[in-house]
Parts: sequence; C-alpha cells; structure tokens
Amino acid sequence: MIEPKLTIVVPCYNEEEMLPETFICLGEFLEELISSKMISEQSKLLFVDDGSKDKTWSLIYKAGLANPLIKGLKLSKNVGHQNALLAGLFTAKEHSDCMVSIDADLQDDVTVIKDFVQKFTEGYEIVYGVRRERSTDTFFKRNTALGFYRLMKKMGVDLIYNHADFRLMSKRAVEELEKFEETNFFLRGIVPLIGFQSTEVFYNRKERFAGETKYPLRKMLSFALDGITSFSVTPIRFISLIGFLSFFISLVFGAYFLLLKLTGNTTTGWTSLITSIWLIGGLQLIGVGLIGEYVGKIYKEAKRRPKFIIDINTFNLALKSGQTL
Ligand code: UDP
Ligand code: MG
Repeated sequence: MIEPKLTIVVPCYNEEEMLPETFICLGEFLEELISSKMISEQSKLLFVDDGSKDKTWSLIYKAGLANPLIKGLKLSKNVGHQNALLAGLFTAKEHSDCMVSIDADLQDDVTVIKDFVQKFTEGYEIVYGVRRERSTDTFFKRNTALGFYRLMKKMGVDLIYNHADFRLMSKRAVEELEKFEETNFFLRGIVPLIGFQSTEVFYNRKERFAGETKYPLRKMLSFALDGITSFSVTPIRFISLIGFLSFFISLVFGAYFLLLKLTGNTTTGWTSLITSIWLIGGLQLIGVGLIGEYVGKIYKEAKRRPKFIIDINTFNLALKSGQTL
C-alpha cells in the first residue's frame, strides 16, 4: 500500500505561549514519519485559529511561510473547541487519507500518532487515544470527569472511557461525520455512532506545557450539560418521575393531615404547608428549566446556523497564488 496522506488537526485558542513549541514538536515528528516512509510526503499539520485574541494567527501564518508542512485555518470568530475541530477536519479531508486531532498544549503523547497510523494501515477507520490514568489532572477534575462518564453511561450514552478528542479518523469516517447535521456537536458521543472498524490505543497524558486551560469550571459544566442533553432525554423522564412521586407523597401527606384534623389535632399546619410549597415550587422550576434546556436545543437546531465560518484557509491561498506557503 502507498503511504497514506496524514493531516494532524490542531485547534488553537489563545495559544501564543504554547505554539512555538508545538510547531517544533509536531513538525519534527511529522518529518520523522515522512522520512521513515510511514506517511506520504504530502502530509500536513493544520492549525485552526479559533478566533484567538492574541498573536495565535500571526504565529500560525508565519510558521506556514517558513515550513511548507504547516497550514493554517482562521475562523471568523471563537466557536469553541468542538466546532473548531470540525472546521479543521472538514477542511483537512480534502487533502488527506486520514486525520489525527490533537490539542495544541501537547498534553497528549505525540509519539502515539505512530501507533494510530499503524492501526489505520491495518484497516481501522477510527482509532481512539485512551488515557491510561489521570494522575496529571487535579483531584477535582479527575472525579468530576469520572462522574460525568458514569452519568452518561447511566443515561444510555456509550462514551469511550478516558478518551478525549485525541483520535485518528479516516477520510471516509470524516465524510460520514459531515452527514450528522446537528448544531450541538458533541464529538465524543457522535464519533462512536459512525461505526466502522475502530480500535483503541493507550497512552499517558502530561501536564499542560505552557499557558493555562481554556476549560474553566464554567465551560466544563456547560460542556457536560450539552453532552447530556444532546444525547439523552432521560433527564426529562426523570423529572416527570419525580413529579409523579411527589404527587403520591402529597396524597399520603394529605390523608395524614386530614386524619389529624378529624382527630382534632390541627396545631401542626404551617410547617408542612410551607415545606410543600417550597418543594413543589422547586420541583416545578427544575422541570421548567430542564424542558427549557431542550426547547433551547430544538430552537438552535431548527435555525440550522453554520457551526463555523472560515475566514482564511492557507490551503486555498497556496492554490490561488500557485506557490506553496
Ligand atoms: N480550544 C479552542 N477553542 C476554545 C477553547 C479551547 O480551540 O474555545 C482549544 C485549545 O487551544 C486547546 C484545546 O482546544 O488546543 C483544548 O483546550 P484546553 O487544553 O484548554 O483544555 P483541557 O485540556 O484543559 O481540557
Ligand atoms: Mg489541555
């Protein structure tokens, strides 16, 4: 078999501190794979600038001028990690047989990409990078992540445990991915739905080399809530279940208080009244909020807005000017 064309897709948001190191590390690695004839010499690195506010884009652009292996994609604004990744994959598929997605911060072990490509040449269409352990995460992140996987599993969504967005996908798999038209894209949940032959490769994850995490608690929570409500209606069912339960409980209480009244013992009224008002009010608010979450999703999906808008694509620049950047 001829060597596959590989594109490594790297979403970047305010990564100016990190990028110089990333260019060197991934660049050298790609050259090594090319010279060992594992991949085609037309393989590329594609850096996606997700509307960064710092010098990220100018760094990418300049790196592209200095090194023909480096290509850049500039999005018109910040659309978040998942959509930036999609923009990169959909652009890269035009130029490659397989694509690997990796974060800019080099937390994932770059050398594992060799194993990914090996699996691809053996015929696998999707290769998941799975973290062997999570010792480099904070106690908090480790446990919230574990809770998240468990919750998702309970709700009937099968995620690959300890797999983030470090994976290889064949061109065919990315073409199929493009057919999933939902606006709320949760890649980790959707990729397994594509099917095809897939496998896992284990690796150790390091600490972020420079800069700080772009996933503060607020974003992590909204990511988790998005993941859950995009894939499962169990929360809505759960709310109706609680509704029924509280209805029956209030029946029992009602009967009890009626009994007290009939026996002439009516001093205990206020406490139970106020508690039940709060209880029912709370339940109703949770229910309304949760339904609102789904209605909001439907609203977003119905509009079918684009998930990202490309401002500059240096693959095309190269085509237009007739020279390689
Ligand atoms: N990222 C992005 N857009 C965003 C937030 C993050 O493209 O709005 C990129 C970021 O530059 C990095 C990757 O997504 O390459 C993962 O982010 P980060 O390392 O901050 O997340 P963590 O590893 O802490 O979960
Ligand atoms: Mg990171």
